[in-house]
Amino acid sequence: MKAIRVHQFGGPEVLVLEEVPTPKPGPGQVLVRVRAVGVNPVETYQRSGSNPAIKLPWTPGMDAAGVIESVGAGVAQVKPGDRVYTSDTISGSYAEFALCEEKQVHRLAGALSFQQGAAINIPYATAYRALHHRARAQTGEVVLIHGASGGVGIAATQIARAAGLTIIGTAGTDAGRKLVAEHGAHHVLDHRNPGYQDQIMTLTGGNGVNVILEMLANVNLGKDLPLLAKYGRVIVIGSRGNVEITPRELMKRDADVRAMTLFNASDEELAAIHAALAAGLDNGTLCPVVGREMPLADAAKAHAAVLEPGAYGKIVLRP
Ligand code: NAP
Repeated sequence: MKAIRVHQFGGPEVLVLEEVPTPKPGPGQVLVRVRAVGVNPVETYQRSGSNPAIKLPWTPGMDAAGVIESVGAGVAQVKPGDRVYTSDTISGSYAEFALCEEKQVHRLAGALSFQQGAAINIPYATAYRALHHRARAQTGEVVLIHGASGGVGIAATQIARAAGLTIIGTAGTDAGRKLVAEHGAHHVLDHRNPGYQDQIMTLTGGNGVNVILEMLANVNLGKDLPLLAKYGRVIVIGSRGNVEITPRELMKRDADVRAMTLFNASDEELAAIHAALAAGLDNGTLCPVVGREMPLADAAKAHAAVLEPGAYGKIVLRP
């Protein structure tokens, strides 16, 4: 099969398309014929060598959607021909086939394309865990989705809307802001406009927001704290550097800064999250947005694109 391989850590150019043996599923494993691959920022960090656990040569990728090709002994929940999306893989998803544990594949609702399926796992599981498990958001609260135009942001917008929250979403382009509004945000602001924090206070009648889902904490965290209502919670989802904060802004409000990494979720937590996502994907309240598709061979271009400004839902690769 063809797969993207990394032989040395570095820039996007270390992603090369190669011929490798097709894996065979062992007991409890399944082989997925990959039809679409989800590209996430985390794979760019891993590719550049940030994760010492990664052993080279390596095929990146946790997220994909496709069809079960074959199953190993003892697999009971899926069979060849089933449409699935993945929540991690054993062999990497940037490939024509991906070897997975049975628990890493989930039924893909018939109404969704494979491209949409590849956009589910990391974005939606992260958004769900941030909003419900970490922020403990309550119906009627106001959430600021700070960076709502990307994979996690659009997922968070749809999940928050379904949960009855009032949503203020931000994006850096007109196209991104239109997308955020179409997917359920009540108010949409430009995080590149110097006055937008004042607009948030005006929109909330001076009370501030109850929850902030933060995609770029190194830029925003210091300015987030004065935007919080009493007992407010910031959930740090993304950060690419250091930031200074004024702790007194937290003290005044009995506020919390919490953070999360999806990799910390237990198997039980992940099972609950994917059950909740299945319900939302079935009833149509959740609907992944794919902004850009590229051939698998263009993985390097996709890695450059996913870090550029102007997000519009997900980038997916086509084997
Ligand atoms: P993405 O699709 O590339 O989206 C990035 C988002 O950040 C876009 O909405 C972008 O908006 C926004 N952004 C850019 N500048 C911003 C600013 N100054 N203030 C607020 N938002 C800004 O990436 P993603 O997949 O949604 O992931 C978002 C972040 O979360 C990444 O840093 C990623 O590494 C991290 N993440 C963490 C976890 C975890 O487990 N903790 C899981 C998934 C992702 P514009 O492009 O419209 O400006």
